[in-house]
Amino acid sequence: MVIGLGIESTAHTFGASVVNDKGKILSNVNKMFTTEKEGMNPSDVAKHHRKYADEIIKKALDEAKIKETNLDFITFSQGPGLPPSLVVGKDKAKELANKLQIPLIGSNHICAHLEIGKLLTKTKDPVFVFVSGANTQIIAYESKRYRIFGETLDIGLGNAFDKFGRDIGLGFPAGPQIEKLAKNGNYIELPYIVKGMDLSFSGIITRADQLYKQGKNKDDLCYSLQETCFAMLTEVSERALAHCNKKEVILIGGVAANKRFCEMLDKMCKRRKAKFFPVPLKHCGDHAAMIAWQGMLQFKSDKNFLDLNEIDILPKWRIDEVEVTWIK
Ligand code: ATP
Repeated sequence: MVIGLGIESTAHTFGASVVNDKGKILSNVNKMFTTEKEGMNPSDVAKHHRKYADEIIKKALDEAKIKETNLDFITFSQGPGLPPSLVVGKDKAKELANKLQIPLIGSNHICAHLEIGKLLTKTKDPVFVFVSGANTQIIAYESKRYRIFGETLDIGLGNAFDKFGRDIGLGFPAGPQIEKLAKNGNYIELPYIVKGMDLSFSGIITRADQLYKQGKNKDDLCYSLQETCFAMLTEVSERALAHCNKKEVILIGGVAANKRFCEMLDKMCKRRKAKFFPVPLKHCGDHAAMIAWQGMLQFKSDKNFLDLNEIDILPKWRIDEVEVTWIK
């Protein structure tokens, strides 16, 4: 049996996980940097990751009941992400691969979100609707690449919700609050901004802010914001599904917690005789098992391992630049 260790450190979370080639997650230990004040200072995050890295890796091996000498490879998230955080993961992975003299694999963090989603939903070839804080992309596999069919032209939808939440005095993160208030709201017209296959959210937030200042109530604004933004995303997802002639849609990212969004995607899929799968929430955020699994797919398909003397982080690595060697 093949066993690998994955290390995640693209942003606020440092994690380590052991998986086997049957798709079993043997351990998944993650520690998130948190702060009392708003915002993340990248150098504080990196300090946090350096402080806990060895402890987390040891815990992941202990929980999996695996000795480091039983590992067949190490993988780490090479990008995209915050450079100071990425460097910590790279250094730890390199140190361990060097010590154990086993292959080192660099994984794309977004790709890892997609592949763990596929593993957990048992889907084969879905359209991916990836909507987190910073990311909003509609992705599907075609001809050896994960292609981005549509994406936000400005901010991610989660961050857009959080901004609106801040502006009208909801707590952080605002998504769950917006969902709650929306249940009692009625529709007020907001701009609907789809350009080709891409989306834009910042103008909608500006308009919702203006309407709030003019005295419109929070429930109506939250309802209208959800209906508008989710309809935009459902429209683009439907077009991607039709274009690629696929039969499955999976929803990934923190915004997947929203029941109304799931309902809209589900309805659209049923109309097109496709199936909708939300990824279980505990696997929607950043964690190390997704990196370990992505590494496993690469290990089994791609023998071009990284040269320990030449590896580097790729902070701006887009998913459509990854050569997909593991899908036949
Ligand atoms: P990224 O990975 O893109 O850097 P992140 O790690 O902050 O960002 P996630 O943890 O995937 O992203 O998602 C967090 C986002 O999901 C927040 O912006 C939050 O408001 C939003 N969110 C959480 N629950 C809900 C909900 N029920 N409805 C809408 N949005 C939600």
